[in-house]
Amino acid sequence: MRDVAVVGAGVAGLAVATLLARAGHRVSVLERFDRPAPVGSGLMLQPTGLAALDRLGLRAEIEALGARIDRLHGTTDRGATVFDLAYGDLAPGLHALAVHRAALHGVLWRAFAACGAGIETARPVAGITEHADRILLHDAAGATLAEADIAIDASGARSVLRALVEPAPPRAFAYGAVWASVPDPGLAPGMLLQRYVAARIMLGWLPVGRAEPGGPPLAALFWSLKPGDHAAWVARYGDWCEQAAALWPPIAPVLAALPGPQAFSPATYIQFTAKRPWRGRLVLLGDAAHATSPQLGQGANNAMLDALALADALAAEAGHEAAFARYAAARRAHVRFYQRASAVMTPFFQSDARSLAMVRDLVFDRLKVVPWLRREMIRTLAGLKTGLLTHRDAATLAGGATAPPSPGPAPVHS
Ligand SMILES: Cc1cc2nc3c(=O)[nH]c(=O)nc-3n(C[C@H](O)[C@H](O)[C@H](O)COP(=O)(O)OP(=O)(O)OC[C@H]3O[C@@H](n4cnc5c(N)ncnc54)[C@H](O)[C@@H]3O)c2cc1C
Repeated sequence: MRDVAVVGAGVAGLAVATLLARAGHRVSVLERFDRPAPVGSGLMLQPTGLAALDRLGLRAEIEALGARIDRLHGTTDRGATVFDLAYGDLAPGLHALAVHRAALHGVLWRAFAACGAGIETARPVAGITEHADRILLHDAAGATLAEADIAIDASGARSVLRALVEPAPPRAFAYGAVWASVPDPGLAPGMLLQRYVAARIMLGWLPVGRAEPGGPPLAALFWSLKPGDHAAWVARYGDWCEQAAALWPPIAPVLAALPGPQAFSPATYIQFTAKRPWRGRLVLLGDAAHATSPQLGQGANNAMLDALALADALAAEAGHEAAFARYAAARRAHVRFYQRASAVMTPFFQSDARSLAMVRDLVFDRLKVVPWLRREMIRTLAGLKTGLLTHRDAATLAGGATAPPSPGPAPVHS
């Protein structure tokens, strides 16, 4: 059994800490915030993320909160369909689950609180020192915050530790977005809906269910925005409401009921992929290892798949380097496919490139008349691709087919 320090109590950090503590490791989480809390609005749990939550024993709990998503529907301001894809066309009953971030965080947090791991909050980790058989984690002043056999960096897209593993800097995407959680009057049940004007404008609507048991039904509302344009968007918020309502009229009463631009949070996106997500006793997990834009809606799903793969690798290998190498190998093909696919697809939906938008509007929806391409498009959305021509089912990607069940207080399904 190992002493394990986990940096970050987000999706990847809570999942891996829970799995490792259940397996008997001594786990301590360091979180920069005073109170670990989810940032942002809603997200899509793909069949992969649901399989991961199944192995954590948390699927029923999250399904009770989230909103089932069967279809993704995107059209332009001129009424052209860009995509209209139903998960069920790949396999009967296949679906995604959209959740409020607080719902996912709450479910992971309750499992973490019962697993026996420790957590220290208000502990921003800024660096590490490695000795022959231990790793020390420091704050910005150099004070030691924790000492362990291995350290897991699950500190997200803005990780400060990952440069110690992979020196190549992240690349910023031209567009980010503003997001809000809003009451859902049932405008688009069962679907992720998007409206586009070229690739410069994207309005999105995603029913996400409830943030907590008994709470009101909510939706995530998002709008593409360049990071540098946020102040101008705030200044012309009234005009923007009219612009958004013209693009999708059912949204007008929802916008009218919001207090103003303060209801929205800005988000920026970066692209970063660690070629080898570990060095020495430090291993990267989730967005710290591979960040991208949320265009394909895979990041939280992949963070949980990483957590399972690392926990399985640490169970299978005595040495930490062999375990990290096993984890990296298990995740490599899947991570690479989605990092590349997100980088390629994002400019078709969020960029100033008119030519890409024209190609998108002419070609994307027509591709699906070829049955094989249609299935590949749904597989891509569902998180199942491991290469251009290869895929796996969700349970296999979550390691459920091979991994032994972990002991612990919460039931774990294999
Ligand atoms: C607008 C938006 C929409 C998205 N939509 C989707 C979607 O639909 N589906 C999907 O799967 N993914 C989506 N994602 C991506 C998803 O949110 C991330 O991939 C996921 O949260 C990554 O999990 P993580 O645990 O790696 O990082 P995070 O969830 O970001 O957690 C990192 C944690 O580390 C802590 N931390 C950071 N630095 C330090 C430090 N130095 N010391 C200690 N603690 C630290 C943070 O406070 C945080 O608690 C979206 C992202 C954005 C921004």
